[in-house]
Amino acid sequence: MTIGNMWKLPLSDQPGSYILVLYLPKSKKIVVGKWGLIKFPSGYYLYVGSAGGPGGLRSRLNRHLTSQGKKYWHIDYLKTYCKPYAVIYQAGKKSRECAWSKIFSEHDKFLVPCPGFGASDCKCRSHLFYTEKHRDLQQSITGFLKSCSECCLHKL
Ligand SMILES: [Zn+2]
Repeated sequence: MTIGNMWKLPLSDQPGSYILVLYLPKSKKIVVGKWGLIKFPSGYYLYVGSAGGPGGLRSRLNRHLTSQGKKYWHIDYLKTYCKPYAVIYQAGKKSRECAWSKIFSEHDKFLVPCPGFGASDCKCRSHLFYTEKHRDLQQSITGFLKSCSECCLHKL
């Protein structure tokens, strides 16, 4: 992560769901908790999550984007090597992370690089999705935002 503590998202303390879009400039083998060494190809990664605790979206996304500390979520292992690209989010008590993950798991431009990633507490195949090409990423984000009128996109 290159942004560090200087950067703050203009978000409320409301709970909500989010998609963190990260860019991995070079292919990298990374140790991810119990799975051990996983090879992540260079390209774009979408990580889908939700935040219901104190501080809501603001607290969670700022933590994802700034903290280099203890690894708590699967994404903490990957994000160290990535540049943040964008976040998409929607405030609301209802968690949409599994519904959104289903959309990307059925999307023909996205692959699942590590089955089970971010999906320890649900039955989804994964909450992490990968696409190599910037054009495919942009098209899929545009399509996703059309289907979610309350979603906000914040480029990083
Ligand atoms: Zn899920």
